[in-house]
Amino acid sequence: MNTNQSKHRYNHYNQSNHRRPTHSDHQQTDVKVTLGQRFPLTIKRLGINGEGIGYFKRKLVFVKGALPDEVIVAEVTGIKPSFLTAKIHRLKTPSKDRVKPRDAYAAEVGGFELEHLAYPAQLAFKRDIMLQSLEKFQPKGFRNFQLKPTIGMDDPYGYRNKAQFQVRRDADGHVITGLYKERSHDLVDLKTCSVQMPATMHVMRGVVALMEELDVSTYDEKRGTGLVRTVVVRVAEGTGEVQVVFVTAKAPFPQEAEMVDRLSTEFPEIVSIMQNINNDKTSLIWGEKTKLLAGKPQIREVLNGLQFNLSARAFLQLNPYQTVRLYDEALKALALSDNETVIDAYSGVGTIGLSIAHAAKEVRGMDVIADAVDDANENARINHIDNVHYETGTAETIIPKWLNEGFEPDALIVDPPRTGLDDGLINAILTAKPKKFVYISCNPSTLARDLVKLTEQYHVNYIQSVDMMPQTARCEAVVKFTRA
Ligand code: SAH
Repeated sequence: MNTNQSKHRYNHYNQSNHRRPTHSDHQQTDVKVTLGQRFPLTIKRLGINGEGIGYFKRKLVFVKGALPDEVIVAEVTGIKPSFLTAKIHRLKTPSKDRVKPRDAYAAEVGGFELEHLAYPAQLAFKRDIMLQSLEKFQPKGFRNFQLKPTIGMDDPYGYRNKAQFQVRRDADGHVITGLYKERSHDLVDLKTCSVQMPATMHVMRGVVALMEELDVSTYDEKRGTGLVRTVVVRVAEGTGEVQVVFVTAKAPFPQEAEMVDRLSTEFPEIVSIMQNINNDKTSLIWGEKTKLLAGKPQIREVLNGLQFNLSARAFLQLNPYQTVRLYDEALKALALSDNETVIDAYSGVGTIGLSIAHAAKEVRGMDVIADAVDDANENARINHIDNVHYETGTAETIIPKWLNEGFEPDALIVDPPRTGLDDGLINAILTAKPKKFVYISCNPSTLARDLVKLTEQYHVNYIQSVDMMPQTARCEAVVKFTRA
């Protein structure tokens, strides 16, 4: 795991890493097919990335944008040994669940994979993907457990608290900000975005207008020249405070004073303006150095009645409305009783550990991002919580260290990034065997992989999926274990 990335990467929308047919799909038939060929196709189900799946002469076909039960004329766009990719040439029979996407660019920019699917069907999809993933890794049939219906949002739009947009100039020299078209570096200018909170887009468009007016240099990816690469706008839903980060290719920012002055007067909600310097030719967003341009270095969020200071680099769940529900589920699954010791692994700024501290004897946690750990310890102080302690380091080194020192946790909660749990950590968990164990997963594929080993010692009691990212194909779930 590259620690320069948060759980939900800047291009978190792309999930192309596991477009993998399921075990039952590997019928390698010698189908004669050519690029551009068209044929009628009935869509059977949705795959892990939200694409429609059908069969052409028993060969698996992935069709982006197609929905279950639809009959289409497919046009072949790619030929691989075990599957084809195709696009919709003509939609003959639309699904009853097909809706018009709110964002005109939804079909070409990653992160809107399900915007053409009615929300109840999105929720069913997320539960089904969990099932598909588990089956793939448990071909002999997974042991009995309950997979609960996905907890969704009442209003599945306007939830994202952070916009992390690339900045470039278009052919006419205008500043554009947004996201790349899928599998490309073609930037699509996002003037509106239905899943972003209005506050992030309002500030982002303001920043763009000022960059244009003040003639701020923008990064040129091909030449590696120019200044501003990315603008990050994050809003704390509980307080309304906004932080703006300019990620620049070099330190000197000629219009800094004017930019800071104009942003502060025109957007009183902006309480923090930062600059992060990244002069590497890389697709990673963040550089190592972050400096304060104006205001304070953190914004203040409120979750479950607790205050959380957030540094620019620190991870926070992107959907504050569902975060509270996700944590409630995790805490319910953990069912702590007083006097128990807890490990909050992959802690970010300590949101989970601090939320349970009142019900525990002691909480220890760790994160690999030092700024997040500093925030977590500071957050304990500002909430007057003194039975919590966070350390910087990886879960796979810190947890074994604590165990060696004789710390015996009663309960463990892990909330890893998409890569899931490290093997060494799984072994440590299986050796220590805490009596209570909860896994929050944001990737059904790695969860399913990790469950193969974890279920040697633990039973999966239930899996509760929670929709943290409506309109995307992303799935998040809380897994409650009991000791075998
Ligand atoms: N529990 C937090 C954060 C979850 S995101 C919350 O709900 O907000 C996952 C976190 O894991 C990120 O903060 C990331 O910095 C951290 N991380 C990534 N790899 C890690 C590792 N190997 N060990 C510990 N933390 C890690």
